[in-house]
Amino acid sequence: MSRRFLIGLTGGIGSGKTEALRRFSALGASTISLDEIAHEQARPGGAAFLKIVRAFGRRILDDAGRIDRKKVGEKIFSNSNFRKRLERLTHPLILKEMLRKMRLSSGIVVVDVPLLFEGNHEKHFDATLAVLAPFSERLRRVLKRDRLSNLEIKKRMSSQILDEQRMRRADVVIHNDGSLKAFRQNVAQYYQAFCLINQEQR
Ligand code: ATP
Repeated sequence: MSRRFLIGLTGGIGSGKTEALRRFSALGASTISLDEIAHEQARPGGAAFLKIVRAFGRRILDDAGRIDRKKVGEKIFSNSNFRKRLERLTHPLILKEMLRKMRLSSGIVVVDVPLLFEGNHEKHFDATLAVLAPFSERLRRVLKRDRLSNLEIKKRMSSQILDEQRMRRADVVIHNDGSLKAFRQNVAQYYQAFCLINQEQR
C-alpha cells in the first residue's frame, strides 16, 4: 500500500471546499470533513453536545432536543465572544477526532479544514491546498444554497481570513471562478499530481 499523503484543504465560505472534497473522494482519495465531525459531535450523545448546551443554555435546542444550528449560528456570528467560546469548547475535540481519523487512513488523504490557517494547523499536513473564488461569486453561491440573508453571510465571512492570505500561505491554490465542470477538472489534475508525488516518495 502507498504511504499516506495528507492534504489540508481550505477556503472561504462558499469557495467550493465541499465540492472539491466530493470530487477527491470520487477519484479515490480518502476524505475527512471537519464540518461533518463537528455535526456528529454536536448531536445528542456526541462528545460536544453537553458542553455546548451548558455554555449556551437550553434555548439553543429545538423541540426535539437537538442543537438548532441556525440559533447557534445567529448567536456566534453576532457576537465574537460567543464564537470564540464555542471554538474553545469544540475545536480541541474536533482536532482530536481529525487526528484519529488521519491515523487510520492511507493513500491520498484530503481533509477539509475551514480554519486551517486561522488555527495554524498546517503542521498536521504534507501539503496545504486553498480553494479561492471571488467574494461576489461566493456570496451568490451561498445565498442560493442556504436560507441566510446577505448580511448574515457577510458576517460569517468577516470571521475568516482573506483570500490574499490563503494564497500566500497555501502550497497549492485552485481558483474556482469558472464552471463547476472546469473546477472538477482542475481538482482531478491535482489529484493525479498528488498520486505521482506519493508514488515517488515510496
Ligand atoms: P462552506 O464553507 O459554506 O461550507 P464550501 O467552501 O464548502 O462552503 P461548497 O458548498 O462546495 O462551498 O460550494 C458552495 C455552493 O456553490 C454549493 O452549492 C456548490 O455546489 C456551488 N458551487 C461551487 N462551485 C461552483 C461553481 N464553480 N459554479 C457554480 N456553483 C458552484
